[in-house]
Amino acid sequence: MAIIDLKKLSKVYGFGDATTIAVDEIDLSVEKGEFVAIMGPSGSGKSTLLHIIGLLDRPSTGQYKLDNRNVSRFRSGKRAKARRDKIGFVFQNFNLLANMTALENVALPLAYKGKGTLRRLNQASVMLAKVGLQAREYYYPHQLSGGQAQRVAIARALINSPSIIIADEPTGNLDSASSKVIMELLKEIHKGGNTILMVTHNPELTAYASRVLYMHDGKIVVDQALKKNEKADIDELQKAHQEQEKANAKKKKGANNA
Ligand code: ADP
Ligand code: MG
Repeated sequence: MAIIDLKKLSKVYGFGDATTIAVDEIDLSVEKGEFVAIMGPSGSGKSTLLHIIGLLDRPSTGQYKLDNRNVSRFRSGKRAKARRDKIGFVFQNFNLLANMTALENVALPLAYKGKGTLRRLNQASVMLAKVGLQAREYYYPHQLSGGQAQRVAIARALINSPSIIIADEPTGNLDSASSKVIMELLKEIHKGGNTILMVTHNPELTAYASRVLYMHDGKIVVDQALKKNEKADIDELQKAHQEQEKANAKKKKGANNA
């Protein structure tokens, strides 16, 4: 059964002449345990789609079923609760709170659970050790390298044991060595049974994924399964999209002439 199921899902920003259709009637079904890489040019709607799937935002129209529950019309409070229970978010710019230590940042999502401070910090400490940062617990974000900051962010994303990890260009601000560390970490998390959705501009990184989606103008225009260690060929994806466009145009023309 699909863990994520989207039907004709759209997100429209603005109105009148300033309307942008960021996500355009997307149908998508993701099974538990998939590792989905999302590619596509800037402005094609990747982040908007992830924000909706990650319950940070709401669709304008269409249906979103998460774990077979229709969450499309959830208001912010209910959305926040479902997000805490099921979703871990990793951002390109880490989004750590500057005035908190690594340990406090990781413990933050536990605050609502009413656990005592000590228990929360202990749990965060275990999670930081898992990402190899036990020695950096009391560092502030500005004292960490980009790669370390992202590992803290991943520990924070994992602290509530979410079933889905959503990562929007998680290595976008990292050098290749740090990127590798982050990707290996995501690979471990995936092996542990998590479903992962990740936006990336780097075709090399699709080698970690089991499926690649290519977006254009708010639509998923290519949806391709990847074999183990296979990398998506971005030129091929673009070509497949262009050929599909051509075929569609022809069909339309045919229909008009009929
Ligand atoms: P991507 O992540 O693929 O670069 P985005 O999802 O960020 O694309 O954006 C898709 C489209 O929606 C773009 O045209 C962008 O300008 C627009 N957009 C995104 N967020 C907003 C917003 N909060 N308000 C208005 N337009 C937005
Ligand atoms: Mg984006």
